[in-house]
Amino acid sequence: MAVRRTSTWLAVLPALLRELLDAAPTHGEAAAAWLLTREAKAFQQARLESLRLPAIWLGGDKGADHSKTLMALFTGGAIAEAWSTRDDLIAFLTTGATSLPIVEAGDLLVACTEGRTPAAVRTLGLHALYRHVVDALERMLATTPRASDDWSIDFPLRCKCELCATLRTFLRDRGRVEQAWPLAEARRQHVQNVIGSHRLPVTYVTSRRGSPYSLVVTKQPALFDHEAASRARQGALLRSLKERRAAFVRLPRDGAERPDGRGSCATRMDPQGKRILIAGNHAEDAKRVVRLPARSLALHGHALART
Ligand SMILES: [Zn+2]
Repeated sequence: MAVRRTSTWLAVLPALLRELLDAAPTHGEAAAAWLLTREAKAFQQARLESLRLPAIWLGGDKGADHSKTLMALFTGGAIAEAWSTRDDLIAFLTTGATSLPIVEAGDLLVACTEGRTPAAVRTLGLHALYRHVVDALERMLATTPRASDDWSIDFPLRCKCELCATLRTFLRDRGRVEQAWPLAEARRQHVQNVIGSHRLPVTYVTSRRGSPYSLVVTKQPALFDHEAASRARQGALLRSLKERRAAFVRLPRDGAERPDGRGSCATRMDPQGKRILIAGNHAEDAKRVVRLPARSLALHGHALART
């Protein structure tokens, strides 16, 4: 059983990592790396546990909100310069069954930009997550919207029993809206439980005629409204993320030509040993100096020449 992290603990985690690094540079680094890795593993364990719950149709209820935890882990990762922990976490969030629902991941990226400059967001190194979410939203929005006569509900029911196989066939049928289904009480109850656990847009009533009674399952017009709302939400999120693109792209390579043709990107070290980007390919970088810890260079996944 994973220990649930409180929001207070998550709020202090980045500051605690900074304290460890400042107070004891060598031992502190090892302690910070250990603590961050432990917290990242605890998150992954909690996520795996939450996946044992039935999926909700259209992700209507996000269930556990992971944003506070992930914000703390990404912020802590940048402070402790724990790149492999961060990269493992992003792989976990973008691959296979443990992938974060796309809208939830997009909301997380938008939340990361609140109260941070684009340069500060870039130090978190979230470009791979950003690319994953933007590509997925573009794919989702490129599909044809539901036709007005398409009542199909293509949803992966968890249960594989014969009743659920029949239910699945009915749900997937684009022309059938209602099904009357003679079933004994226990079997009616099972179908009702499956519909309820996945929050499918169908209603059911028991018709007390004949023997056994029939379960009458009816698809609801909310199917169309919810899907249209979900699509509008995805479109708004994609626009919002594109507006914030500069906060998620990789920093330019040293010596790379700037897209505006005004010279090349360049960095140098300042007296405190910090790498300074003195000309970047982002409008806001070109206007001011961006200070990055020298060790942050690996965060951006490319080699800047050391001076
Ligand atoms: Zn079943």
